[in-house]
Amino acid sequence: MKNNYEAEIKACLEKYETILREQIARAERMEQDAGAVDYSKKDKIIIGLIGGDGIGPIIMESAKKVLELLLKEKIASGKVELRVIEGLTLENRIAKGQSVPDDVLAAIKACDVILKGPTTTPKGGTDAPDMESANVTLRRELDLYANVRPVSVPEKGIDWTFFRENTEGEYVLGSRGVEIKDKLACDFKVTTNAGTERIARAAFEFAKNNGKDNVAIVTKANIMKKTDGKFSRIANQIAAEYPDITSEEWYIDIMAANLVNENIRTKFKVFLLPNLYGDIITDEAAQIQGGVGTGGSSNVGDRYAMFEAIHGSAPRMIAEGIGHYANPQSVIKAAEMLLRHVCLISEADILAAALEKTTGKDAKVRIDECKGATCAEYTEYLLAELANNI
Ligand code: NAD
Repeated sequence: MKNNYEAEIKACLEKYETILREQIARAERMEQDAGAVDYSKKDKIIIGLIGGDGIGPIIMESAKKVLELLLKEKIASGKVELRVIEGLTLENRIAKGQSVPDDVLAAIKACDVILKGPTTTPKGGTDAPDMESANVTLRRELDLYANVRPVSVPEKGIDWTFFRENTEGEYVLGSRGVEIKDKLACDFKVTTNAGTERIARAAFEFAKNNGKDNVAIVTKANIMKKTDGKFSRIANQIAAEYPDITSEEWYIDIMAANLVNENIRTKFKVFLLPNLYGDIITDEAAQIQGGVGTGGSSNVGDRYAMFEAIHGSAPRMIAEGIGHYANPQSVIKAAEMLLRHVCLISEADILAAALEKTTGKDAKVRIDECKGATCAEYTEYLLAELANNI
């Protein structure tokens, strides 16, 4: 007998109704925004350190040593605490059946800011558990709505800062799509007014406060008419509040081409994008900078912030036994961004200068795709440079 799918359709519709109600509640929570923490007024700042999976623990060990040296006095006086958080490993997440186990989430929420190693996400369409990405969970649970990724190649005139919306789009319900077996699958993409307003404002405020005269709004609103259409409309409304900043609209496909077009790319300064496009295009941008191993990123909300490398856990490097060649510059750049975020500006400046010196053309130790220095050797070199400047 032919299946008319009525029961499956009904189950999908019920799921969709639940999702819509949850998303309206989320949008309403965002509308009651409490405002950002002022770290300069805090007596103590707790920095949580999470190793993660694959090459994560290797590069995080390097970042931890850097922070211990830079913050030695502040740690001794109790102004800063570095707190190692265990348990955000693939094995523990699978064992507990949670993308971020409850006890780990509670430990994270007891910190002010987090420096995190990359975490592996089991792939869909395999026998692996259908587990949400730990990052997606953390971005949602900590409401880290702005993914800010700087990319700089001074000798090529590139100075880009990407503001990727971090809590919505295809990601917010990425593990909650519906499937009618052997027929079709359907995922959901969500854009809210409040979610778009806050990321757009973050991008334009950054541009205003950092002397950037141009914001590129990047969508695919010609195709994704409802969600990207809303993103585009609201981003343009916010843009109108900043008459001194030029804003231009681009579609993501041509923007991907623009980034490799030397005739045009240097004119871009700040990019404002929905989640998925931001995810993809920032890897392209990092490659132009010298590889994903060089890119740091921040996930910022009003109450919490999480800093990490832009790349993943590189399981292939571990499988091939070359994990010790992982480049820690990505997560150390993220540590610099963290220090700036919590108003430890002089420490951030010292770290930025040391990173520049140890990665620039005169660097004596070079990490070069498994041919040059190991992670540990580069770390010793950087620590020595830092020790000279503290
Ligand atoms: P990946 O970024 O882990 O690795 C891609 C390639 O980039 C690696 O094979 C390696 O050659 C290179 N690479 C990455 N980091 C490097 C470093 N520090 N030094 C030198 N080379 C480096 O991407 P993938 O293989 O697509 O993803 C692996 C896993 O990581 C997946 O499970 C994915 O979901 C996860 N992931 C996690 C995060 C995160 O936690 N923020 C981000 C992206 C991907």
